Amino acid sequence: MMQSADKKLWRPMWIPDEQEDKCLNCSSQFNTLLRRHHCRQCGNIFCNNCSSKRQSLPQLHYDRPVRICNRCSDLAHYSKLALSDDVMQRIESSKGFCNMSLDALGRKMIITNFLEVMLTLLSRFETSVYRHTTRAIANLAENEINRVDIIESSIFGAFVDYMLNPHDDDHQIILNIYITGRPVYARADRAGAFLQQPTETLGIDHPTQSYKEHTHQRSGDTRWHHTTKNQRKIVEGGSLPPLILMINSPVEKVILYSVASLASLSENSDNQISIGQVGGVRPMINLLHYSNQDKIPLYAATTLYYLSLCQTNFTLLLQQELFDTLSKIIIVNYTNTSHELLLLALKILGNLSSESSTDEHFKNNGTLYKQTAVILFGHF
Ligand SMILES: [Zn+2]
Ligand SMILES: [Zn+2]
Repeated sequence: MMQSADKKLWRPMWIPDEQEDKCLNCSSQFNTLLRRHHCRQCGNIFCNNCSSKRQSLPQLHYDRPVRICNRCSDLAHYSKLALSDDVMQRIESSKGFCNMSLDALGRKMIITNFLEVMLTLLSRFETSVYRHTTRAIANLAENEINRVDIIESSIFGAFVDYMLNPHDDDHQIILNIYITGRPVYARADRAGAFLQQPTETLGIDHPTQSYKEHTHQRSGDTRWHHTTKNQRKIVEGGSLPPLILMINSPVEKVILYSVASLASLSENSDNQISIGQVGGVRPMINLLHYSNQDKIPLYAATTLYYLSLCQTNFTLLLQQELFDTLSKIIIVNYTNTSHELLLLALKILGNLSSESSTDEHFKNNGTLYKQTAVILFGHF
């Protein structure tokens, strides 16, 4: 008791009675017969059936048994199982968290107190445990506010580790990890939508605009500044190598999400250098050939376009294969190519053939690409 007097007494805030007219667990309507009860552990409101357990909570300075809800009781049980050496118990734990993450209340409870336990579950690889745990985390990420917590937590680091060194090739795990990182490609989707009106995003109304002016103009806009800052943070968190690795996935959705993420991340000027450095150019060129899914070559071209804004990447980009592929898109596939892809191909070639380029081949044809763009689209 002396000790607890020294510590700051912290207990969860109780949800006010008037805020809930139904049990948060079973949704039964409260009335004079069915009364409200507060769980001492989480502070939420439940009916008697859903908060029937009693337990002492020394960490909250309840030394004698007090009312806790079934959810808190279950979560405590799963947490204990997570530490077990028995893999069956760890599987049960991960399943429990997965079920708990299916509704808003469960998610709120997990995100508040159990992210560390999720990390424990991820610390020893077992396919089933990983499947359920990554699924639970993907469910948590359904709520936008949780995504920030997850991306900034060690869980994101654990995901990156897994992607860098996958213990098996389980598509379900990889998809769950992707769903968790959805904000990255949500931005990419918006970038895709912008491509419908390329003049607005890509700055092609200003053919003389240099790369520096281009980025300067963006950073002057606070919205851009905000998003590019996040984009940088994601790359600094180590997301590029796994994203590039996953381009080789046999699952099309994984490829689509990876390349969409890279397209979005490449908007940031520092990321443009990073993507080049970690070997992102070659896979992007390969994806230009991808024919089953129209969006994949489009995102690859978007990434290459952004990389071509950065002179550091010129030596990586100035290769015959890129020239051949883009030429093929422009000339051979002209009638089958979407306008967006065609314009991006012209713009990449145009950027590479700018005056700073020393490659004779690209340089000599630069004017041609620009003129073609002007003829086809009225601007470059
Ligand atoms: Zn209830
Ligand atoms: Zn509770």
